[in-house]
Amino acid sequence: MPHTLDPDLRRALAERVRYCHEMGIYDFYRREPRVSESATGTAEVDDLSSKSLELREEMAAKKSAVVAKIADESIFRVLTPNPEQAVPDPIAALKLIREDLGDCTRCKLHKQGRKQIVFGVGNPHAELMFVGEGPGADEDTQGEPFVGRAGQLLNNMIKAMGIRREDVYIANIVKCRPPGNRTPERDECETCSPFLMRQIAVIKPRILVALGAVAAKNLLAINAPMSELRGRFYDFMPAGAQSSDPSWPGTKLAVTYHPAFLLRDPRQKGEAWKDLQMVMKYLGLEPPKKAAE
Ligand code: SF4
Repeated sequence: MPHTLDPDLRRALAERVRYCHEMGIYDFYRREPRVSESATGTAEVDDLSSKSLELREEMAAKKSAVVAKIADESIFRVLTPNPEQAVPDPIAALKLIREDLGDCTRCKLHKQGRKQIVFGVGNPHAELMFVGEGPGADEDTQGEPFVGRAGQLLNNMIKAMGIRREDVYIANIVKCRPPGNRTPERDECETCSPFLMRQIAVIKPRILVALGAVAAKNLLAINAPMSELRGRFYDFMPAGAQSSDPSWPGTKLAVTYHPAFLLRDPRQKGEAWKDLQMVMKYLGLEPPKKAAE
Protein backbone atom coordinates (compact mmCIF):
# COMPACT_ATOMS: atom_id res chain seq x y z
CA MET A 1 0.00 0.00 0.00
CA PRO A 2 1.52 3.39 -0.95
CA HIS A 3 2.74 5.42 2.01
CA THR A 4 1.73 9.10 1.94
CA LEU A 5 4.14 11.47 3.62
CA ASP A 6 2.91 14.39 5.64
CA PRO A 7 3.36 17.52 3.38
CA ASP A 8 5.48 19.33 6.00
CA LEU A 9 7.72 16.29 6.41
CA ARG A 10 7.95 15.88 2.64
CA ARG A 11 8.94 19.54 2.27
CA ALA A 12 11.51 19.26 5.05
CA LEU A 13 13.01 16.14 3.44
CA ALA A 14 13.06 17.75 0.00
CA GLU A 15 14.75 20.85 1.43
CA ARG A 16 17.29 18.66 3.15
CA VAL A 17 18.08 16.83 -0.08
CA ARG A 18 18.34 20.09 -2.02
CA TYR A 19 20.59 21.52 0.67
CA CYS A 20 22.83 18.44 0.50
CA HIS A 21 23.03 18.80 -3.29
CA GLU A 22 24.11 22.41 -2.84
CA MET A 23 26.79 21.12 -0.50
CA GLY A 24 27.94 18.64 -3.17
CA ILE A 25 26.51 15.57 -1.43
CA TYR A 26 24.70 13.28 -3.82
CA ASP A 27 24.98 9.79 -2.30
CA PHE A 28 22.53 8.85 0.42
CA TYR A 29 22.47 5.63 2.39
CA ARG A 30 19.41 4.21 3.97
CA ARG A 31 20.08 2.90 7.45
CA GLU A 32 18.93 -0.67 7.89
CA PRO A 33 15.93 -0.85 10.22
CA ARG A 34 16.43 -2.63 13.54
CA VAL A 35 14.73 -5.98 13.60
CA SER A 36 12.16 -4.70 16.09
CA GLU A 37 11.38 -1.78 13.73
CA SER A 38 10.98 -3.96 10.64
CA ALA A 39 7.62 -3.39 9.00
CA THR A 40 7.68 -6.86 7.49
CA GLY A 41 6.82 -8.52 10.76
CA THR A 42 8.10 -11.54 12.61
CA ALA A 43 8.13 -13.90 9.62
CA GLU A 44 11.09 -12.05 8.16
CA VAL A 45 12.85 -12.06 11.51
CA ASP A 46 12.32 -15.78 11.86
CA ASP A 47 13.92 -16.31 8.46
CA LEU A 48 17.10 -14.59 9.46
CA SER A 49 19.82 -16.80 10.71
CA SER A 50 21.93 -15.32 13.48
CA LYS A 51 24.86 -15.17 11.03
CA SER A 52 22.99 -13.08 8.45
CA LEU A 53 21.73 -10.84 11.24
CA GLU A 54 25.30 -10.17 12.32
CA LEU A 55 26.23 -9.44 8.74
CA ARG A 56 23.35 -6.97 8.36
CA GLU A 57 24.33 -5.19 11.56
CA GLU A 58 27.95 -4.99 10.41
CA MET A 59 26.85 -3.52 7.05
CA ALA A 60 24.54 -1.06 8.79
CA ALA A 61 27.41 0.06 11.02
CA LYS A 62 29.61 0.65 7.97
CA LYS A 63 26.87 2.65 6.26
CA SER A 64 26.32 4.71 9.42
CA ALA A 65 30.03 5.48 9.44
CA VAL A 66 29.77 6.78 5.87
CA VAL A 67 26.80 8.95 6.80
CA ALA A 68 28.65 10.28 9.86
CA LYS A 69 31.71 11.10 7.77
CA ILE A 70 29.62 13.05 5.25
CA ALA A 71 27.87 14.87 8.07
CA ASP A 72 31.20 15.81 9.65
CA GLU A 73 32.47 17.19 6.35
CA SER A 74 29.27 19.12 5.79
CA ILE A 75 29.58 20.73 9.23
CA PHE A 76 32.74 22.48 8.09
CA ARG A 77 31.11 23.58 4.87
CA VAL A 78 28.06 24.88 6.72
CA LEU A 79 30.32 26.90 8.99
CA THR A 80 31.93 28.59 6.01
CA PRO A 81 29.93 31.81 5.87
CA ASN A 82 28.85 33.55 2.72
CA PRO A 83 30.65 36.92 2.45
CA GLU A 84 27.49 38.92 3.15
CA GLN A 85 27.05 37.26 6.53
CA ALA A 86 29.79 39.40 8.02
CA VAL A 87 28.02 42.53 6.85
CA PRO A 88 25.16 43.77 9.04
CA ASP A 89 23.94 46.42 6.59
CA PRO A 90 21.52 44.69 4.17
CA ILE A 91 22.25 47.19 1.39
CA ALA A 92 25.95 46.33 1.49
CA ALA A 93 25.16 42.64 1.97
CA LEU A 94 22.95 42.54 -1.13
CA LYS A 95 25.71 44.31 -3.04
CA LEU A 96 28.11 41.54 -2.04
CA ILE A 97 25.70 38.88 -3.30
CA ARG A 98 25.36 40.77 -6.58
CA GLU A 99 29.14 40.94 -6.88
CA ASP A 100 29.39 37.23 -6.14
CA LEU A 101 26.86 36.56 -8.92
CA GLY A 102 29.00 38.60 -11.32
CA ASP A 103 28.39 38.18 -15.02
CA CYS A 104 26.94 34.79 -14.20
CA THR A 105 27.37 31.88 -16.58
CA ARG A 106 26.44 29.19 -14.08
CA CYS A 107 23.44 27.87 -16.04
CA LYS A 108 22.55 27.71 -19.72
CA LEU A 109 20.23 30.74 -19.51
CA HIS A 110 23.30 32.96 -19.79
CA LYS A 111 23.70 31.98 -23.44
CA GLN A 112 20.07 31.93 -24.48
CA GLY A 113 19.57 35.56 -25.32
CA ARG A 114 19.49 37.34 -21.99
CA LYS A 115 20.34 41.04 -22.18
CA GLN A 116 21.21 41.33 -18.52
CA ILE A 117 20.83 39.73 -15.12
CA VAL A 118 17.73 40.86 -13.23
CA PHE A 119 18.87 40.70 -9.63
CA GLY A 120 15.96 42.10 -7.64
CA VAL A 121 14.65 45.44 -6.53
CA GLY A 122 13.13 47.14 -3.55
CA ASN A 123 13.55 47.86 0.11
CA PRO A 124 16.41 45.81 1.66
CA HIS A 125 14.59 46.13 5.01
CA ALA A 126 11.25 44.99 3.54
CA GLU A 127 8.79 43.10 5.72
CA LEU A 128 7.12 41.77 2.60
CA MET A 129 8.90 40.13 -0.31
CA PHE A 130 7.45 38.87 -3.58
CA VAL A 131 9.10 36.11 -5.59
CA GLY A 132 8.13 35.41 -9.18
CA GLU A 133 9.32 32.94 -11.77
CA GLY A 134 11.79 34.76 -14.02
CA PRO A 135 12.26 37.94 -16.03
CA GLY A 136 10.22 38.55 -19.18
CA ALA A 137 11.13 40.71 -22.18
CA ASP A 138 10.49 44.06 -20.45
CA GLU A 139 12.36 43.01 -17.33
CA ASP A 140 15.27 41.75 -19.43
CA THR A 141 15.43 45.14 -21.18
CA GLN A 142 15.10 47.26 -18.06
CA GLY A 143 17.01 45.05 -15.62
CA GLU A 144 14.23 45.16 -13.05
CA PRO A 145 11.67 42.50 -12.10
CA PHE A 146 7.96 43.02 -12.78
CA VAL A 147 8.02 46.12 -14.94
CA GLY A 148 5.83 44.98 -17.85
CA ARG A 149 2.05 44.51 -17.85
CA ALA A 150 2.25 41.88 -15.13
CA GLY A 151 4.40 44.31 -13.16
CA GLN A 152 1.74 47.00 -13.46
CA LEU A 153 -0.81 44.57 -12.06
CA LEU A 154 1.57 43.63 -9.23
CA ASN A 155 1.97 47.34 -8.47
CA ASN A 156 -1.83 47.64 -8.25
CA MET A 157 -2.00 44.63 -5.97
CA ILE A 158 0.64 46.15 -3.69
CA LYS A 159 -1.18 49.47 -3.71
CA ALA A 160 -4.44 47.76 -2.81
CA MET A 161 -2.68 46.41 0.26
CA GLY A 162 -2.07 49.97 1.41
CA ILE A 163 1.68 49.99 0.71
CA ARG A 164 3.99 51.08 -2.10
CA ARG A 165 6.24 49.12 -4.43
CA GLU A 166 9.22 50.82 -2.78
CA ASP A 167 8.20 49.27 0.55
CA VAL A 168 8.60 45.67 -0.63
CA TYR A 169 11.37 43.63 -2.23
CA ILE A 170 10.76 41.82 -5.52
CA ALA A 171 12.87 39.06 -7.06
CA ASN A 172 12.56 35.91 -9.15
CA ILE A 173 13.58 32.28 -8.91
CA VAL A 174 15.87 32.72 -11.96
CA LYS A 175 17.61 35.96 -12.76
CA CYS A 176 17.94 35.59 -16.52
CA ARG A 177 15.11 35.58 -19.05
CA PRO A 178 14.21 32.10 -20.31
CA PRO A 179 13.95 32.26 -24.12
CA GLY A 180 10.42 32.85 -25.39
CA ASN A 181 9.27 33.25 -21.79
CA ARG A 182 9.33 29.50 -21.34
CA THR A 183 9.17 28.08 -17.83
CA PRO A 184 12.63 27.90 -16.28
CA GLU A 185 13.93 24.35 -16.19
CA ARG A 186 14.72 22.48 -13.05
CA ASP A 187 18.51 22.68 -13.36
CA GLU A 188 18.27 26.43 -14.03
CA CYS A 189 16.12 26.95 -10.93
CA GLU A 190 18.44 24.81 -8.81
CA THR A 191 21.51 26.67 -10.01
CA CYS A 192 20.10 30.16 -9.60
CA SER A 193 17.91 29.89 -6.51
CA PRO A 194 20.77 29.72 -3.94
CA PHE A 195 21.38 33.40 -4.74
CA LEU A 196 17.72 34.14 -4.07
CA MET A 197 18.01 32.23 -0.79
CA ARG A 198 20.92 34.45 0.19
CA GLN A 199 18.90 37.55 -0.69
CA ILE A 200 16.04 36.32 1.50
CA ALA A 201 18.44 35.57 4.35
CA VAL A 202 19.76 39.14 4.15
CA ILE A 203 16.39 40.88 3.85
CA LYS A 204 14.72 38.66 6.44
CA PRO A 205 11.15 39.54 5.44
CA ARG A 206 8.28 38.69 7.75
CA ILE A 207 6.34 37.31 4.81
CA LEU A 208 7.36 35.94 1.47
CA VAL A 209 4.69 35.74 -1.23
CA ALA A 210 5.33 33.22 -3.99
CA LEU A 211 3.76 34.45 -7.22
CA GLY A 212 2.59 31.46 -9.22
CA ALA A 213 3.15 27.74 -9.17
CA VAL A 214 6.76 27.78 -10.40
CA ALA A 215 7.90 30.08 -7.59
CA ALA A 216 5.84 28.20 -5.01
CA LYS A 217 7.03 24.75 -6.04
CA ASN A 218 10.66 25.82 -6.11
CA LEU A 219 10.55 27.57 -2.76
CA LEU A 220 8.54 24.89 -1.00
CA ALA A 221 9.89 21.88 -2.88
CA ILE A 222 6.33 20.61 -3.12
CA ASN A 223 4.78 19.43 -6.35
CA ALA A 224 1.15 20.29 -5.77
CA PRO A 225 -1.55 22.22 -7.65
CA MET A 226 -2.20 25.87 -6.81
CA SER A 227 -5.51 24.92 -5.24
CA GLU A 228 -3.59 23.00 -2.57
CA LEU A 229 -0.70 25.44 -2.23
CA ARG A 230 -2.79 28.56 -1.61
CA GLY A 231 -4.76 29.56 1.45
CA ARG A 232 -2.27 28.87 4.23
CA PHE A 233 1.04 30.03 5.63
CA TYR A 234 4.17 27.91 5.51
CA ASP A 235 7.18 28.33 7.78
CA PHE A 236 10.11 29.06 5.53
CA MET A 237 13.85 29.24 6.17
CA PRO A 238 15.96 29.77 3.05
CA ALA A 239 17.69 26.50 2.13
CA GLY A 240 21.46 26.43 2.46
CA ALA A 241 21.69 30.10 3.39
CA GLN A 242 22.23 30.89 7.01
CA SER A 243 20.99 34.19 8.27
CA SER A 244 23.57 36.47 9.83
CA ASP A 245 21.00 36.96 12.57
CA PRO A 246 20.60 33.73 14.60
CA SER A 247 17.55 35.23 16.29
CA TRP A 248 15.69 35.38 12.96
CA PRO A 249 13.19 32.49 13.03
CA GLY A 250 12.62 32.48 9.27
CA THR A 251 9.67 33.86 7.43
CA LYS A 252 6.07 32.96 6.70
CA LEU A 253 5.40 32.03 3.10
CA ALA A 254 2.09 32.44 1.28
CA VAL A 255 1.23 31.48 -2.28
CA THR A 256 -0.91 33.38 -4.76
CA TYR A 257 -1.41 33.59 -8.49
CA HIS A 258 1.21 35.11 -10.77
CA PRO A 259 0.02 38.49 -12.10
CA ALA A 260 0.58 37.27 -15.67
CA PHE A 261 -1.90 34.46 -14.99
CA LEU A 262 -4.38 36.99 -13.57
CA LEU A 263 -4.07 39.01 -16.79
CA ARG A 264 -5.02 35.88 -18.72
CA ASP A 265 -7.80 34.91 -16.31
CA PRO A 266 -9.08 38.03 -14.49
CA ARG A 267 -11.82 35.96 -12.83
CA GLN A 268 -9.16 34.73 -10.39
CA LYS A 269 -8.39 38.25 -9.13
CA GLY A 270 -10.87 37.81 -6.28
CA GLU A 271 -9.03 34.68 -5.16
CA ALA A 272 -5.70 36.51 -5.31
CA TRP A 273 -7.19 39.31 -3.23
CA LYS A 274 -8.17 36.74 -0.58
CA ASP A 275 -4.52 35.60 -0.47
CA LEU A 276 -3.32 39.17 -0.10
CA GLN A 277 -5.86 39.86 2.64
CA MET A 278 -4.45 36.91 4.56
CA VAL A 279 -0.98 38.47 4.22
CA MET A 280 -2.29 41.91 5.21
CA LYS A 281 -3.91 40.51 8.31
CA TYR A 282 -0.63 38.95 9.39
CA LEU A 283 1.25 42.19 8.79
CA GLY A 284 -1.47 44.35 10.36
CA LEU A 285 -2.06 46.25 7.12
CA GLU A 286 -5.28 48.08 6.34
CA PRO A 287 -6.29 48.59 2.72
CA PRO A 288 -6.61 52.22 1.67
CA LYS A 289 -10.23 53.41 1.87
CA LYS A 290 -10.80 53.24 -1.87
CA ALA A 291 -9.61 49.62 -2.16
CA ALA A 292 -11.65 48.57 0.88
CA GLU A 293 -14.91 49.97 -0.52
FE1 SF4 B 1 23.37 32.65 -13.52
FE2 SF4 B 1 20.90 32.58 -12.58
FE3 SF4 B 1 21.36 33.69 -14.94
FE4 SF4 B 1 21.56 31.06 -14.64
S1 SF4 B 1 19.69 32.29 -14.42
S2 SF4 B 1 23.02 32.35 -15.71
S3 SF4 B 1 22.36 30.88 -12.56
S4 SF4 B 1 22.10 34.42 -12.96
